[in-house]
Amino acid sequence: MKKSWVTLLVSMAISMAAFAQELPFTVVYGDFVQGSVVGIASLHAKKAWVNDKALIINDDGESLFGIDRDASSLTFRWQDGTGKVHEIVHAVVARSYDIQHINGLPNNKVNPNPQEVAKIIENNKEIAQVRLKRENTVHPALPLDWPVSGRISGVYGSQRILNGQPRRPHFGVDIAAPIGTPVYAPADAQVVLVNPDMVLTGKTMMLDHGMGLKSIYVHLSEIDVHNGEHVVRGQLIGHVGKTGRATGPHLHWGMSWFDVQVDAAKLVATAQPPAL
Ligand SMILES: [Zn+2]
Repeated sequence: MKKSWVTLLVSMAISMAAFAQELPFTVVYGDFVQGSVVGIASLHAKKAWVNDKALIINDDGESLFGIDRDASSLTFRWQDGTGKVHEIVHAVVARSYDIQHINGLPNNKVNPNPQEVAKIIENNKEIAQVRLKRENTVHPALPLDWPVSGRISGVYGSQRILNGQPRRPHFGVDIAAPIGTPVYAPADAQVVLVNPDMVLTGKTMMLDHGMGLKSIYVHLSEIDVHNGEHVVRGQLIGHVGKTGRATGPHLHWGMSWFDVQVDAAKLVATAQPPAL
């Protein structure tokens, strides 16, 4: 008899744990994979957090969040109507990235000079501050459209290790196209950064698509919008260039959810951009 009580208690504990593991929303876009954006609906919570970052939730219980390049799990917390906070740790599916080791380089090719480093740090700070902005003037709509026609020449997550020093991973999608090729807004947005001269990224622009989702356009030859302007999906926003540190003309297109850099290629409906 004693054994059956134990068995009963264990099975009750398991079923309670299973009940507690249910996520309090439905997934309407994306998946739990590194670099994804997950769009959610029917989130019945006053407040919710992914890895302690607060979600922006609209009145219909819709929201979204991004998953880091190297995440192995994410912690979802939410506060119910009574104020009680619940927590679930959800697994994230790993991807493999293109890692290139290059050795035997002269050291001056590996490290930029100190004045450049200072300017690069300042540029990165400006971009990082815009990414963290929580104003929410646009309703996000997924999937996005490709912002430009051309050929993919660089992918999310790739990384070079120069003389044994790992460099910052490549977080954007590169689309090669001739200088002057038009760049269009991939969805409705507000322009949140226009900088005509950054060291690495050249003429640089950022759009806010709502709920923390932002996009960045790098190496442009021209920027056709001004800071604060609202743009609609398909509107001309700039032209492809090779300003800043670029070996050839291309658009570097990056997406982020606050400071989490996600894979733009997972936010569009087709694997390739339209051909030129
Ligand atoms: Zn790039």
